[in-house]
Amino acid sequence: CYEARTYSSLRPPIPLPPPNQPLSVAEFCLSIFSSTSTDGATAFAVNSTTGQTLTYSQFVSQVRSLAYSLKKRFSLSQNDVAFVLCPASLHVPVIYFALLSLGIIVSPANPLSSNSEIAHQIQLSKPVIAFATSQSSHKIPSLKHGTIVLDSPEFLSFLTRSDIEDDFIKRVKINQSDTAAILYSSGTTGRVKGVIMTHRNLIAMMAGIHHYNTLEAAASDKPPRHVTFFTVPLFHVFGFFMLLGAVLSAETVVLTERFVFTEMLRAIEKYKVTVMPVSPPLVLSFVKSDLAKKHDLSSLQAVACGGAPLGQEVAQLFNKKFPNVLLVQGYGLTETGGGATNTEGLGEATRYGTVGRLSENIEAKIVDAVTGESLPPGQRGELWLRGPVVMKGYVGDEKATAETLDSEGWLKTGDICYFDSEGFLYVVDRLKELIKYKAYQVPPAELEQLLHSHPQIADAAVIPYPDEEAGQIPMAYVVRNPGSSLTEAQVMDFIAKQVAPYKKIRRVAFIDSIPKSPAGKILRRVLVNHSISGGLSR
Ligand code: AMP
Repeated sequence: CYEARTYSSLRPPIPLPPPNQPLSVAEFCLSIFSSTSTDGATAFAVNSTTGQTLTYSQFVSQVRSLAYSLKKRFSLSQNDVAFVLCPASLHVPVIYFALLSLGIIVSPANPLSSNSEIAHQIQLSKPVIAFATSQSSHKIPSLKHGTIVLDSPEFLSFLTRSDIEDDFIKRVKINQSDTAAILYSSGTTGRVKGVIMTHRNLIAMMAGIHHYNTLEAAASDKPPRHVTFFTVPLFHVFGFFMLLGAVLSAETVVLTERFVFTEMLRAIEKYKVTVMPVSPPLVLSFVKSDLAKKHDLSSLQAVACGGAPLGQEVAQLFNKKFPNVLLVQGYGLTETGGGATNTEGLGEATRYGTVGRLSENIEAKIVDAVTGESLPPGQRGELWLRGPVVMKGYVGDEKATAETLDSEGWLKTGDICYFDSEGFLYVVDRLKELIKYKAYQVPPAELEQLLHSHPQIADAAVIPYPDEEAGQIPMAYVVRNPGSSLTEAQVMDFIAKQVAPYKKIRRVAFIDSIPKSPAGKILRRVLVNHSISGGLSR
């Protein structure tokens, strides 16, 4: 198989429901959730910040009650978009499932985003209603049906209706090809875009999780009931699909409103957490911190790391320090609904440097950026992916969609990768502009646009600068106007006031001119080399 130029998953395919069967991802997950015995488990979800819990039956009844309230009170139509701007709380899974059950498109965003970032996202997805907390609601412009504030008596009344018609959800006919969610990603270039995920895309992700649950259950007399602590945000694809998967698996979900490392350790001990989806900076914290020793973490079985590259040395140190915790690595994009590859078992966890093999039902190519040729194992090129999890496109942006998805359904990831002869994938570099600060997306084009708006800045470019803790930090190269005495601190301050905290520029260098190609494209590689070596060689 690996002699051919298309790489197919080496794992047996996972069957999916027939594509023309009407089915929502909510129904797919909730039917398995409801048929799973939950005896002995106290709660479906726990808020580790407040100690509040949501039982299994409360979850199901709140989803129904909220869906019914939305239908009655706002007469929302299928394929309307709901913008969700909420920190993690017990309400978030209820909101996601109520909306997905009704065929209303969920569009979750980071509550730390600035007003202008939110205005841009809203312009893309065109929501008619929003959900926010009283702390974030002021950032949302006026929408057709307004903003529902989660800490309001009205919202609480939506969750506890008793006059619900039977079968009202069953009467909603959702096609798998309908849009389920719009998530935000900058893709390979330019500003943030809205990634269209269909119910089919998400069902394909969920079918993968269900498959692993079935294997795990078959391998033991008493299938493990996982307790998952969410450190990854629920608005990002990683947290989003893990949360849907936690419902499908009827796990216990531990959520935290504000991440604090020591509180997380306490929560692992208290709730006997077994699994944690994490991004690389947290693996580093586990490795570096002595505090881990002060807590009983013996319940922890697996840490699933993705979203950004994990240093080999960090992975090695983690395995040494926590020999009983399986470190799983996965690679994926918002545009692939999350996971496209993952490592399996201990053998692959110690195969350092790889992000594992292709997940089930996924195909890949490694494409030479210049010749367009598909490359054999061992050779580096851009990774292209195809499969049922690949997005439908970018909302309202045919140009960006056509640049990213070709007519045969291949998604151009913008990552430089290679496969080895056994089908393991190695991510070596990024062709695309994207900067990842602690696995959060920072689109350089957005920061460059802001820098250009400064009256003393003639030109600017933003590049990733390596950082041990964050992976990368955004660094700006700035050309000042003649006579300007603008300082580095002033540049950083100017941006910090306008963006979410993770997008702040954290390093500045002044330069006479930004190196550009004859076509006017910023030569980012030249700047990256300059930032590291101090020379402007090409
Ligand atoms: P996002 O859409 O925010 O999930 O970002 C996707 C991008 O993050 C990918 O295209 C990669 O550049 C990067 N990425 C995600 N997971 C990994 C990984 N395990 N190793 C290296 N880079 C990764």
